[in-house]
Amino acid sequence: MNSLKGIGEMEEQIKYGTSVIEYTLEFAKRKTLGIKVYPDKSVRVIAPMDTSIEKIKEKIISKAGWIIKQQDFFLTFHPYTPARKYISGETHLYLGKQYRLKIFESDKEKVKLQAGNINVFVKSKADKYKIEKLLKKWYKNKADSHFQKLFEECIPFSKQFYTGEPVLKYRWMDKRWGSCDKRGQIHLNLELIKAPKKCIEYVIIHELCHLAHLNHSTEFYKLLDKQYPDWRTTKDRLEKLLV
Ligand SMILES: [Zn+2]
Repeated sequence: MNSLKGIGEMEEQIKYGTSVIEYTLEFAKRKTLGIKVYPDKSVRVIAPMDTSIEKIKEKIISKAGWIIKQQDFFLTFHPYTPARKYISGETHLYLGKQYRLKIFESDKEKVKLQAGNINVFVKSKADKYKIEKLLKKWYKNKADSHFQKLFEECIPFSKQFYTGEPVLKYRWMDKRWGSCDKRGQIHLNLELIKAPKKCIEYVIIHELCHLAHLNHSTEFYKLLDKQYPDWRTTKDRLEKLLV
């Protein structure tokens, strides 16, 4: 079913093998058909004004392999986030393991990991905002030690193709697990502290490979395959993570 999204924009989909490609179709004054795949896996097709829907579908089918490859290659962050209540008994992840949240009222506010529990001490149990803030700060502190250590363990292989000093940064991000820029700065999503170490390692290696190729080209994947042969399994695991 087609539905109008904005003026001149339509939501469409086509079947390709066992996959369904959803895309936004837009007509514009241009000569050729353009297809763009975004990091959130959305696909945008811009077609010349007079192109028939059949012709457009034909073109998308011919590019379907490429579209799916692009969608798979982005290191996107699509968490399944159950609504958080920040109450005792709720489970929260840390380094891939589930812990039970326990809330205690105390004048001294802190978070402590103890025997399968994440104990949060807070002035008022009802202050969900404060509990969330304390937890985020605790995760950040954990990331300070784990991320840097894993990063240093991963760096040596990048010396084959990168002469500079890669720098590690991290922050809470909404859409990506990591990113890399030309200056050698690698950003990790702090959410990764909830994932198994193998997954954190994979994101670091993926981003370090971008120091050789700032794209998702065949060369990029050759390098990644060589350095982390099992990356597809790890990526799957990461994508199924409940954060
Ligand atoms: Zn990438």
